[in-house]
Amino acid sequence: MKLSVIGCGYLGAVHASAMAELGHEVVGIDVDQAKIEQLAAGRPPFFEPGLPEILTSAGASGRLRFSTDMAEVSEATVHFVAVGTPQMQGSYAADMRYVDAAIDALIPYLKAGDLVVGKSTVPVGTAARLAQKLAESGSGATLAWNPEFLREGFAVKDTIEPDRLVYGVADERAASVLDEVYATALGTGTPRIITDYATAELVKVAANAFLATKISFINAMAEIAEVTGADVGQLADAIGHDARIGRRFLNAGVGFGGGCLPKDIRAFTARAEELGRGESVAFLKEVDAINLRRRQRVVDLAVEALGGSVYDKRIAVLGVTFKPDSDDVRDSPALDVAVQLKGLGARVVSTDPQGIENARIRHPQLDYAGTADEALAGADLVVLATEWKQFRELDPVRSATLVAGASVIDGRNALDAAVWRAAGWTYRGMGRP
Ligand code: NAD
Repeated sequence: MKLSVIGCGYLGAVHASAMAELGHEVVGIDVDQAKIEQLAAGRPPFFEPGLPEILTSAGASGRLRFSTDMAEVSEATVHFVAVGTPQMQGSYAADMRYVDAAIDALIPYLKAGDLVVGKSTVPVGTAARLAQKLAESGSGATLAWNPEFLREGFAVKDTIEPDRLVYGVADERAASVLDEVYATALGTGTPRIITDYATAELVKVAANAFLATKISFINAMAEIAEVTGADVGQLADAIGHDARIGRRFLNAGVGFGGGCLPKDIRAFTARAEELGRGESVAFLKEVDAINLRRRQRVVDLAVEALGGSVYDKRIAVLGVTFKPDSDDVRDSPALDVAVQLKGLGARVVSTDPQGIENARIRHPQLDYAGTADEALAGADLVVLATEWKQFRELDPVRSATLVAGASVIDGRNALDAAVWRAAGWTYRGMGRP
């Protein structure tokens, strides 16, 4: 099939490459000239495991190209919209201007029978509004909403072998077109749910709201553990054995971040309020508040670990990205902690295997080290803020020889406390004695 993908960020670049890898002919469109030049040269503009390989192989097959010129979509019959929907400045609501601009730019190139497929995460009601816009355009194109569930760090696998496919459609034909697009995944038994626009839009925000709630739930338990001497890790293991609860996403720590969960739960509360149902998801404000308190908790632990003040103390912060195996620093707890500590007068040195370039753009005032060794050198305190494998596997005996003070805050409960203590470290975890 001939496809276009409008918006080539973390979602769109992977979607375009994966669809070409599966045999479709794909053109990726973005307004960001530099990003398109990199993609066209076969260089991913961001770090995502597996993306370089499929970008190269799909590019070599001749089935994948990238352009800033919307006219290039003319031959495609299915057009995925994967532009950003960030939090609006000064509001909890999602900023829909990129989605609207993409649809407006696309309309002149649409033909009768074309299918426009929304993949961006949007407030419920958006698809119905855009379907109306398409109908009024007279293009003869129709709309489907097909939310995306990929996880950064696993984006290629999640796109090629999704857990499930959700189609929000207004007619049967749209569903059969999407079946053709996703024939490979469907052939391996991937479940698919065919539903209306509103349900499809809500599935995505409900899934993210649930995941955020699960993380904040265990972090709330960590807060209680901290004043009672209980161990939230053992608590999570114990409740996680109940299959109705499950152990995954029950890791207490510095909390969630990134370009999705925080802004999606905020946009959901804003949309629910517009719909007169603010109280239905009011708990998400608490989920958000618990999450942000964990960042403060790490800062408070740092002050405590350094005897009441971090002023002029050298603090190594391990990690800047919001999660390992990504270079994404959007709403990153690790960066937030580094910025707060710097604000208190600490000499903060942050390090990360992939995220420094992005972090430097957002926070040029911070100091960055290229390696963990450089960050640790002479540090009075070490804060593990993103659980990269390289950091989880640090040798506490060797690390102790690099620092000025062997004191560590494990913001992700990712280190073996007993092993670090045995190596002479003062260890502080999250919700752990
Ligand atoms: P991103 O910021 O990395 O990418 C968005 C891209 O859209 C950018 O490259 C931007 O230049 C481009 N763009 C903006 N306006 C455009 C226009 N008018 N025409 C063409 N391109 C335009 O964002 P992302 O992380 O890829 O997220 C995109 C959407 O997907 C969001 O709604 C997000 O919530 C959703 N989503 C993201 C993920 C994820 O893990 N990143 C997962 C599921 C869903």
